[in-house]
Amino acid sequence: MSTTAQIGVTGLAVMGRNLARNFARNGYTVAVHNRTSARTHALVAEFGDEGEFIAAETAKDFVAALERPRRLVVMVKAGEPTDAVIQEFAPLLEPGDMIIDGGNAHFADTRRRERELREQGIHFVGMGVSGGEEGALLGPSIMPGGPKESYDSLGPMLEKISAKAADGAPCVTHVGPDGAGHFVKMVHNGIEYADMQLIGEAYQLLREVAGYSPARIAEIFRTWNTGRLDSYLIEITAEVLAHVDAATGKPFVDVVVDQAEQKGTGRWTVQIALDLGVPVSGIAEAVFARSLSGHADLRAASRGLAGPKASPLSESEAAAFADRVEQALYASKIVSYTQGFHEIDAARTEYDWDIDLGAVSAIWRGGCIIRAAFLDRIRAAYDARADLPSLLADDAFAREIASAQDDWREVLVAATRQGVPTPGFSAALAYYDALRAERLPAALTQGQRDFFGAHTYRRVDQEGSFHTLWGGDR
Ligand code: NAP
Repeated sequence: MSTTAQIGVTGLAVMGRNLARNFARNGYTVAVHNRTSARTHALVAEFGDEGEFIAAETAKDFVAALERPRRLVVMVKAGEPTDAVIQEFAPLLEPGDMIIDGGNAHFADTRRRERELREQGIHFVGMGVSGGEEGALLGPSIMPGGPKESYDSLGPMLEKISAKAADGAPCVTHVGPDGAGHFVKMVHNGIEYADMQLIGEAYQLLREVAGYSPARIAEIFRTWNTGRLDSYLIEITAEVLAHVDAATGKPFVDVVVDQAEQKGTGRWTVQIALDLGVPVSGIAEAVFARSLSGHADLRAASRGLAGPKASPLSESEAAAFADRVEQALYASKIVSYTQGFHEIDAARTEYDWDIDLGAVSAIWRGGCIIRAAFLDRIRAAYDARADLPSLLADDAFAREIASAQDDWREVLVAATRQGVPTPGFSAALAYYDALRAERLPAALTQGQRDFFGAHTYRRVDQEGSFHTLWGGDR
């Protein structure tokens, strides 16, 4: 039995407990601590035989149990609790020790905490962890930021406990300095929102336009999961749709209140994109769709508004329509990843982070919620050209969208005619068409701005700024 631990975990709710067990199962001695010590004792009592744990009652005992340099993982509720825990532990630490925040912190808080702790010589690593409760135990995708030198000693341990991609590569890398890890985790969650919204729209179209039952749609998702849409979210969608409510015998999806909740990382992705001036319209629509679903009163007050009712297609038309929906879903997915990677790319410039976009897609291939075969393709695109201006500029993706676009448009025509809302699919297509447009109405916008505010405009045929004397007296 060791008397010192190679790593410590404080905060032993579902995530911290499972992460501690994961370290222990991989042969590390783990010091464990929780504000309420009953959780600490429960962990050791229940899972003590999985590996070596040192239970610490107090912060002092916890710190004393750690090998130097100390590696202290914080898995508490994000926000003020994280600051409270840092304030409690930092005075007990020495230069060179590490505080690793595995919670869902806002990257701006991580930047602040890193700066403050750096003054004391403490390495602060903001670490995004994805994969939920099960991932934490069996292997999450891990996105650590913070000082590069901290990864030299922490990295091998994280590589051991992380998920492994199909080629055996660990799903962890040093993402970049200070808040880069939490930033990338935030965008991961934004993309997750978009993926879920697009899947939801595909389901709704198959249900209302094709007229299929949830069980039948589950079969379609299972088939899609054997092709280019192969992913964890498609896989679990089939499971959810096939599930029957035991109490009523009805499809599970029909007994759940249709109001989606959110914890905030999707919203942050959009807020930061607005600050960075990056158009993430697909991700934004996914966040808005959840918020719209929650406005029960507004929805009730609007239910009588005029519009078409969806009338299901014939059996043969429905099968062809389902194939088109797959094309629309895939094309829209390419667009939402394009937008998410654009946001990370913009942050690289804004915060001077050396994030490798190919490496980010590689560590999302396993363990996390958006894990998908598709991420191998994104990695290949960035490996082939690290300065790719957009995923849509990759030849392979451009070809796939080119072959999907007729069906994508047809699906949206059908959705519009039948009154089925498709904010994600529509925003993705609008983004695609706006990017490829020869001219945008932004020229008119500039004219209007010059008219009412003398904001000036640039001309296509001359350098410089111009202003027109509108109506002669402006
Ligand atoms: P949680 O419900 O977010 O937080 C509960 C833990 O925080 C408990 O250990 C609690 O201690 C501790 N805590 C709360 N306030 C505290 C304070 N002021 N001082 C000290 N400790 C305090 O737990 P979780 O779901 O396991 O998540 C942990 C972190 O991982 C969060 O930041 C979460 O956002 C992030 N995360 C969660 C998931 C997920 O799927 N759940 C996935 C990725 C990341 P007591 O037992 O004493 O109350």
